[in-house]
Amino acid sequence: MSKEIRISPIRNGTAIDHLGPGSAYKMLEVLDLRDYTVTVGINVESRKMGHKDIMFIEGRELSGKEMDKIALIGHGATVNLIKNSEIAEKFQLGYPEQVEGIMKCINPKCITNAENITGKFSIRHSPLEAKCFYCETRMGEQDIVSSIKSD
Ligand SMILES: [Zn+2]
Repeated sequence: MSKEIRISPIRNGTAIDHLGPGSAYKMLEVLDLRDYTVTVGINVESRKMGHKDIMFIEGRELSGKEMDKIALIGHGATVNLIKNSEIAEKFQLGYPEQVEGIMKCINPKCITNAENITGKFSIRHSPLEAKCFYCETRMGEQDIVSSIKSD
């Protein structure tokens, strides 16, 4: 008997699947879901990944910025848009090439930290790295994850 979740517990909303194990905690931190019903599975058995995290958000779709956050933190997550208990759309998230307005530069002298300027970064993969558009400071995965903020 498979322990994979096949049936969505939500009728309309968003399912974030194939999240790296443990990354759902950070997801709850960076997505503002306080007004929504959220079901979270941590370390759920997965045939593809061994273990994974999975989240179901009732009655909520995600913005482009939220998708970028999930792409950076979630390690190849899949976002499913659920309508009438069925998958209406599926997005396989890869790393974005560029992100804007979702994280802060770690360089305290960066102009984005001194003035009210939106942070902008180019993203490189393997290993994951973000380069500030303004001061060219490079940030590794740990810095990226800890600098991603909720709105
Ligand atoms: Zn910077």
